[in-house]
Amino acid sequence: MADARPHYPGGMSSAENLAVPDCLFCRIVAGQVPADLVAGTDRVVAFRDINPQAPLHVLVVPRDHHADVAQLAAVDPGLLADVVALAHEVAQTEADGAYRLVFNTGAEAGQSVFHVHGHVIGGRRLGWSPA
Ligand code: 5GP
Repeated sequence: MADARPHYPGGMSSAENLAVPDCLFCRIVAGQVPADLVAGTDRVVAFRDINPQAPLHVLVVPRDHHADVAQLAAVDPGLLADVVALAHEVAQTEADGAYRLVFNTGAEAGQSVFHVHGHVIGGRRLGWSPA
């Protein structure tokens, strides 16, 4: 039977990308690195940022490894929707639904962990624009 799984441009299948040993957020998802978990489903997890920039600063990640939001959108848009839905749910609970959802994408834009994550930021009045 043909393999119907989506494939990355580089040829790696999603199944081969379920977990990456040296990835910090894969290790948090696996319970190998402690984190303050806030919410989760079978596909996505929310945990508090270790260096919060606001009263609410939670990271929402897919359990499967994808490097950034563009790759996730290309390979599994439904999973990106799950990330957004959990971010919204956390913000409804902890910030009355007013929040910023940020996906830093690329090192020049401030991405330091290359397992896609949405920053859910809120709990105070947020200024614009980002530095
Ligand atoms: P980025 O810079 O990639 O957009 O965001 C990475 C985020 O991960 C940063 O806000 C940073 O504070 C957070 N972070 C880095 N290491 C850890 C960790 O070990 N645990 C948690 N909970 N957050 C972390």
